[in-house]
Amino acid sequence: MKFYYVRTEEKYAKAYFVSFERDCSICDECDEVYAITRKGLYHTRLKGKKQGDFYRAPGCYIGNSKFRNMLKEYRITGYDICDVVVDKWEDQRNNLIDIDASDLKEIVIKGKSGWYMDKDGNDIKRCQKCGHVDFYVKGELHGISVPEDTWDGSDIFSCSNWHGVMLCTERLKEACEKEKIKNIRFIPLDEFTFA
Ligand SMILES: [Zn+2]
Repeated sequence: MKFYYVRTEEKYAKAYFVSFERDCSICDECDEVYAITRKGLYHTRLKGKKQGDFYRAPGCYIGNSKFRNMLKEYRITGYDICDVVVDKWEDQRNNLIDIDASDLKEIVIKGKSGWYMDKDGNDIKRCQKCGHVDFYVKGELHGISVPEDTWDGSDIFSCSNWHGVMLCTERLKEACEKEKIKNIRFIPLDEFTFA
């Protein structure tokens, strides 16, 4: 099975983190945050005039009705839909733009897999308890893989040691390409680098 990392493009409006209420789970082995439980809605602000069908803010993916309808139509699995609060939408000079953001909703990742491995499926140096991988170890990885026997079969999912980051199957990639979804790109995991 071929998996992909989901990203956005530079030329479209960009979504930024403003705030959300959360509980962080800290690993008692390595002191890193290994899970974040959201308690309220995500607040974002958008910057840029060019609208996409999909946006990514830190810890949050956002889709418009075209994107969400596509998910339904192609029977994509592994997500929930949730409201998102767009505090403001501005251009590159920080002037407010009159764009109706009410069509945007959060695409919450529900699918799961276990820890990611290196490209060849070998285990990498990480916390033995929560799976956290240090920055310098990540920097040396050229491609990663997800053991299929730990994957729940969802089209949209995240790894248990890469919390909140959207990965997907070929099915989502093909659906987006057929429907010409704007502002979404797919990097095969075996070509992905953290650098
Ligand atoms: Zn840990």
